[in-house]
Amino acid sequence: PTDTSEDTDQDHINVVLRVRPLNSNETTRKDQFTCTFAGAGKIEVDNNGSSRQFGYNVVFEPDATQSDLFDHSGVKKLIDMALNGYACTALAFGQTGSGKTHTMTGPPQQFQEGKQVDPEMYGIIQRSLKYLFRQLNQQHGNKIVRASYLEIYNEQVIDLLNPNMRRYLQVRWSKNKGFYVENLFVVECETEDDLNAVLEEGMRNRQTGSHGLNEFSSRSHSMLMLTIDSEMQDPDDENLYITKRGKLTFVDLAGSEKVKDSNSTADTLVESNSINKSLLVLGNCISSLGDQKRRQGHIPYRDSKLTKLLADSLGGNGVTLMICCITPSSHHAPETMNTLRYASRAK
Ligand code: ADP
Ligand code: MG
Repeated sequence: PTDTSEDTDQDHINVVLRVRPLNSNETTRKDQFTCTFAGAGKIEVDNNGSSRQFGYNVVFEPDATQSDLFDHSGVKKLIDMALNGYACTALAFGQTGSGKTHTMTGPPQQFQEGKQVDPEMYGIIQRSLKYLFRQLNQQHGNKIVRASYLEIYNEQVIDLLNPNMRRYLQVRWSKNKGFYVENLFVVECETEDDLNAVLEEGMRNRQTGSHGLNEFSSRSHSMLMLTIDSEMQDPDDENLYITKRGKLTFVDLAGSEKVKDSNSTADTLVESNSINKSLLVLGNCISSLGDQKRRQGHIPYRDSKLTKLLADSLGGNGVTLMICCITPSSHHAPETMNTLRYASRAK
């Protein structure tokens, strides 16, 4: 991949694109490979004879490995900033089946009891947790990482670490905390293993139970939220420690595809509307923030649960990394165009 992130160090929102390989379904169907890589973060996609070029901070071609994503997407910079007291978010965006979960957490089998996967397949989250603790352990002062894991489905917040709590949680606002989820389970983590256990528990709860359907996970946003308190030695006085509180959030967004209207009952209609709402509002916030002038004005964070919880990363001094995932298959080209257009709004 060509890394052009040096040019855009000042940006609050960076967008990278990952193109997964064609899968066996797509090759069996003899789908065409629609992408041409034009260098330096550029990609050209052909949609049934009409093609268009898009530009991002980095474009990852199908042969990019999980470690390429971690090393070159800019996520490390996000973690470094979170350690320095900033609010940072990495989100995966794209249609269902485009590789969001693969990119964030790797193969789902690893979260089944007793299953192991090749560490090479670990996603951005596991790699980030390792990097985070490596950095933290090099610091002398006290440090504490608190983790929560939730899901937003149909504009309702569900605690992934406390699935027996059969009720939806409220998003509230306070002067000190900004937007936060009331009664959300919080786990204090002292080691990388503690954090991995939180990830596993949340992923298992996401995959099983009443809402283990693929249908559900493709329509929900999952958020792993870390608060990092670390004491740092004052550079001018070694006896003085400064405490910094940063935030690091990983979001596996709901599938961005338009939910088909056919056979939708009253229930699923509400569902698709509010899924679109969260992604729509996120898109609106991102495009306002991407514009120097509009950035100073009103940003509609309050219009969805997702954007409320991401407000400090999206605006203020926060930093957001959007990882867009697409399939190169001609079969999905129209939806891919939608993904690429949405992602371009952040630029
Ligand atoms: P999403 O979360 O966007 O719905 P998934 O991450 O579940 O999509 O990916 C769909 C399928 O494609 C999974 O079987 C996944 O392992 C596979 N896949 C996704 N991205 C890649 C990739 N870069 N390389 C190999 N397989 C991939
Ligand atoms: Mg997924």
